[in-house]
Amino acid sequence: MNGDGFDVIVAGGGPAGSAAATLLAQHGHSVLLCERSAEPEEKVGESLMPATYWTLERLGMLDKMRASHFVEKGSVQFFTPDGRATDPFYFKEVDPHESSHTWQVLRSEFDQMLLDNATEHGVDVRRGASLREVIFDGDRAVGARISENGSEVDIPCRVLVDATGQSHFLATKRNLRKIERHLRHVSYFTRYQGAERGTGIDEGATVIFHTESGDSWFWYIPLPDDQMSVGVVGPVGSLVKGRAGNPEQVFDEELAHCKPLVAKLAGAERIKPIRATRDFSYHSTQGAGDGWVLIGDAFGFIDPIYSTGVFLALKSGELAADAIHAGLEAGDVSHERLSTFESEFRGGVEAMRKLVYAFYDRDFHFASFLKEHPQCRSQLIDLLMGNVFRKPVDELLQALDEAVELPPSIVAATGETG
Ligand SMILES: Cc1cc2nc3c(=O)[nH]c(=O)nc-3n(C[C@H](O)[C@H](O)[C@H](O)COP(=O)(O)OP(=O)(O)OC[C@H]3O[C@@H](n4cnc5c(N)ncnc54)[C@H](O)[C@@H]3O)c2cc1C
Repeated sequence: MNGDGFDVIVAGGGPAGSAAATLLAQHGHSVLLCERSAEPEEKVGESLMPATYWTLERLGMLDKMRASHFVEKGSVQFFTPDGRATDPFYFKEVDPHESSHTWQVLRSEFDQMLLDNATEHGVDVRRGASLREVIFDGDRAVGARISENGSEVDIPCRVLVDATGQSHFLATKRNLRKIERHLRHVSYFTRYQGAERGTGIDEGATVIFHTESGDSWFWYIPLPDDQMSVGVVGPVGSLVKGRAGNPEQVFDEELAHCKPLVAKLAGAERIKPIRATRDFSYHSTQGAGDGWVLIGDAFGFIDPIYSTGVFLALKSGELAADAIHAGLEAGDVSHERLSTFESEFRGGVEAMRKLVYAFYDRDFHFASFLKEHPQCRSQLIDLLMGNVFRKPVDELLQALDEAVELPPSIVAATGETG
């Protein structure tokens, strides 16, 4: 292998990788971050959760976010299959602090801001550099084979962090992925210009529309420059199988079954081709091993309904960075030491996952649930904000346990789910 290498190599320059790399550099470690794409890319995942605030604060990103042109988001609103709008869930209802609003971002810009911030903190950030192989000595990761500028080089490290997103490099190689069988979904998405948006505090609201069948739902996310991100999500079983037509036709057919959304898009122009992604909910049975750690989507991903992805990517990056730092300080980067971040992280994911299953349960309705359990409203808003690692939401989770049939927990991460 070439030279002394780095304390840590991070593969993947999305929110998870940038967060882990920056925090490890802040702790004084030498960090190399390799991002496969040579240029910033557009991605889904534009709506942040308010609880991203706390990791963004640790990263030194808040002033940059405040100065950005990203749209401020202060609430979430849902439309039922029969076209009725629920009262918006205003985040400041549970806490008037600045952390109770967040941003709707352009991912190409947001991810680049995080990478630039990593560079400012001393991370060696390389774009156009791909992880080709994790190099093992026995069962211990000891380096990475990186392809850059047309050649491959082996670089040693003490810890390898896999933040490769839905490429889930190590989880695939080590056969660690468990697909959530009941959340086998597909999504078709695009952007519009000139769509209707709310005013005042509602201007940046995420709106979720059920289609008439109740099978699928649309997101409606206001972005800068009068753009609107619009996407439909539904079961592979009904949006793909037995369905004639290309993604554009399927998108248009679903849209036709969503009258309130059609009204909001009247007069707007579709400005991007329809793109698709599918089967995206899964988790890894193991989040760390000797000398390696998985974070962000490379660890797992839970359905996009509540916009949890970027928050959990940042949070897992943060928790893993602290565990890696403790391990490096102690001279112990064993599985036991590195996996200490997992139980806290899985606990937070599990809380979100329960709410996801509630959303897809045909017999469950938030309005009647809250009528029966009015005391759960503030914990529900906390969950919608991502406050699972900061505040107790046990009362809500217990009520959900009684109201919804849930699959086996992923906290212990054993066995099949779904
Ligand atoms: C339909 C849909 C809608 C979504 N909407 C939202 C939303 O509104 N809000 C939200 O918060 N989340 C949303 N998400 C989820 C969100 O996009 C992801 O959870 C988030 O981007 C995960 O961040 P990450 O850093 O783990 O991975 P990514 O952001 O995917 O970053 C991984 C990076 O690794 C790089 N990479 C891959 N392989 C290699 C390699 N071999 N070597 C080097 N680099 C590599 C990739 O180029 C990429 O830049 C949505 C997801 C889906 C599927």
